Amino acid sequence: MTTIAFIGLGHMGGPMAANLVKAGHQVVGFDLSPASCDQARADGASIAGSAGEAVRDADVVITMLPAGKHVLSVWTGIVSAVKPGTLLIDCSTIDVDSARRAHSLAQEQGGNLQSLDAPVSGGVGGAKAATLTFMAGGAPEAFARAEPILSQMGKKVVHCGDAGAGQAAKICNNMILGISMIGVAEAFVLAEKLGLSHQALFDVASTASGQCWSLTTYCPVPGPVPASPANNGYKPGFAAALMLKDLRLAQEAALSSGATTPLGAEAAQLYSLFAAAGHEGDDFSGIINFIRGQTKT
Ligand code: NAD
Repeated sequence: MTTIAFIGLGHMGGPMAANLVKAGHQVVGFDLSPASCDQARADGASIAGSAGEAVRDADVVITMLPAGKHVLSVWTGIVSAVKPGTLLIDCSTIDVDSARRAHSLAQEQGGNLQSLDAPVSGGVGGAKAATLTFMAGGAPEAFARAEPILSQMGKKVVHCGDAGAGQAAKICNNMILGISMIGVAEAFVLAEKLGLSHQALFDVASTASGQCWSLTTYCPVPGPVPASPANNGYKPGFAAALMLKDLRLAQEAALSSGATTPLGAEAAQLYSLFAAAGHEGDDFSGIINFIRGQTKT
C-alpha cells in the first residue's frame, strides 16, 4: 500500500483516484470543487483541506488538472510541502513547455524529488474501467517507480523519453487523430456527391490504404461501425472542445520548436470554427456535418 495524494478529482481524476482506492492504496484527495470532493469521499478517499495538506504524508502525488497554468500553480505550492524523495506525476494534458517547467520545479527543490509527465488517452470510459493508456516522460527511475501505480489505472504504460516526452507523444498522436478524422469526413462527403454509398466506401477504405482509426473505430457516418458516436447523435465520446484543446497545444509546440505542421494548423482552425458554431460538446467526429454544410451550394 502506498499513500497517494490525488489533486484534481474531476471527470478523469475522480474515477482514476477511485481505482487507486480499489487497488488498496491510501488516497488523500483535494479539489477546489466540493462536489468532486464529496464523490471522491464516497469512493473511499480521504479529503484534505488544501493541496499542501493532501501531499504532506504522501509517497506519490498525482495531479489531473485542466491546463498548464493550473499544474504549475499547484506544483509551485506543493514542491516545498512534500516529503524528501516523493514522486510527482502529472497526468493532465498540458503544453510541453509547462510540463518541462513542472519537472524543473521538482528538480530545483532538492530533496531528491522525482517527477513524471504522464498524460492519458482513453477518456472518461477508460478512466472508469482502468483501461487508460499512459504516455510518460521523465527519468527511468521515476518511470520504474510510477509504472506499477499507473498500471492500476490503465492497460498500457509507455515510457516515451525524458521530461515532456509524454506530453509530446500525446499531442503528436492527437494531431494525427484530428487530421485523419477531417480526412475521413471529407472522403465521405465527396462520396455522397459522387453517388457512392457510405457502406461501399467503408468496405473498400477499411481494408485498403485509407484504413485508419478514425474510419474503422470512430466512423463519422452512421451505419458501418455501430458503436461509433455517429450512431448516437454525435454524443461524446471525445468532445470537440478537447480535440481543439489538443490541436492548439500541438500548434503551440510546433511554433516553439520550429516544426512545420500545415495540416495540423488547418485542423485546429476547422475545429475552432466547429466549436464556435456551438458544437463544443459534440463528439469530434461530428465535424463531418460541419464540412457537409460548408460544401452545400
Ligand atoms: P475536469 O474539469 O472534469 O477536472 C479538472 C478538475 O481540476 C476540476 O474538478 C477542478 O475543480 C480541479 N481543479 C482545477 N484547479 C485546481 C486546483 N488549483 N486545485 C485543485 N483542483 C483544481 O477535467 P477532466 O475532464 O477531468 O480533464 C483533466 C485533464 O485530463 C485535462 O488536462 C484534460 O485535457 C485531460 N484529459 C481529459 C480527457 C476526457 O475525456 N475528459 C481525456 C484525456 C485527457
